[in-house]
Amino acid sequence: MTGGAGCIGSDLAEVLLSRGDRVRVIDNLSSGKVEHIEALLPNPNFRFIEADLLHREQWDDALDGVDMVYHLAANPDVKFTLGDATDKDLQQNLIVTYNLLESAREHGIRRFAFASTSAIYGISPVQPIPENVSPRPISLYGATKLGCEAMISAFSQLFGMQCWVLRFANIVGPKVRKRGRTVISDFLHNLAANPGRLQILGNGHQAKSYLLSNECVEAILYVVEHAHDPFNVFNLGGDDSLSVRRIADIVIGAMGLEDVELAFTGGEGGWPGDVPRFTLDVAAINALGWRARHTSEEAVTTAVHQTMHAAGISRAGELPACRQ
Ligand code: NAD
Repeated sequence: MTGGAGCIGSDLAEVLLSRGDRVRVIDNLSSGKVEHIEALLPNPNFRFIEADLLHREQWDDALDGVDMVYHLAANPDVKFTLGDATDKDLQQNLIVTYNLLESAREHGIRRFAFASTSAIYGISPVQPIPENVSPRPISLYGATKLGCEAMISAFSQLFGMQCWVLRFANIVGPKVRKRGRTVISDFLHNLAANPGRLQILGNGHQAKSYLLSNECVEAILYVVEHAHDPFNVFNLGGDDSLSVRRIADIVIGAMGLEDVELAFTGGEGGWPGDVPRFTLDVAAINALGWRARHTSEEAVTTAVHQTMHAAGISRAGELPACRQ
């Protein structure tokens, strides 16, 4: 597995180990953390290889004897800030994915699952968005994830690899993410620092689909087990969406705050490349037999409480300095 020290990858590694699989994780810890996999390290069926997927010589041997690749490593940031290198996503998503596919091909690995994203769709005129609409990504992240899908499709066709492309909704969960990476941790940390005022990027009407990390892992494994085409593409999430404004209310409520001034920066999206609103059409995964157990609102509410606990953020009146 790649990206196994990340938020979702470490949850996936844990479940694979618990069902008796042997798991090798390749991760360069760029956004992942050793603490995510600390509990797994003593397991004799677990091996951690700290390596950068851009440099094949660092990890190529790790694919010896492997029968399935779960590829979750990526630059996980959708946000592009002016001044950022414009080839970061190209390198970390597309080139990394090519390197991995090529190594998998040379090692005779025939099964490959990929963590794709709803960001590939961009601003779709069709809502909810089914898997077969024409994708028009509006971020470098979405564009390169779509490029990865295309590369995986070609490898599947040319080299007989069975592949699963899983287009995730927004995934939320207990692993504390760095500030600036997710709306939940941003709101929690910003309110912990200033309980009287919350800045909200955009007009607050942005509305997206949210899924808990443990359900995402369940769905990945379910699709891999039950979808048998040579090349399988599934949206992975629930059938609803939740507004940023409502998330602010949930966080404010969970922190026990009152009379918080909300300051909207304005505009449709939160940042350039942000898809303001989407709902995924999940009919295909539902028909396969898997359905999200929580609505977006329930998933976010659960994740807010889990993140508060993990980051040591308490309800109003007892606000300790929070970890970043
Ligand atoms: P994460 O940042 O926690 O995990 C990504 C992992 O990949 C990290 O552990 C990082 O250290 C590792 N990594 C990155 N570049 C690497 C490289 N060159 N070599 C080796 N390791 C490298 O992010 P996550 O939220 O767990 O996301 C996992 C996957 O799911 C990503 O592919 C992401 O694009 C995709 N995804 C996530 C979401 C979400 O909402 N979290 C939504 C859609 C898709």
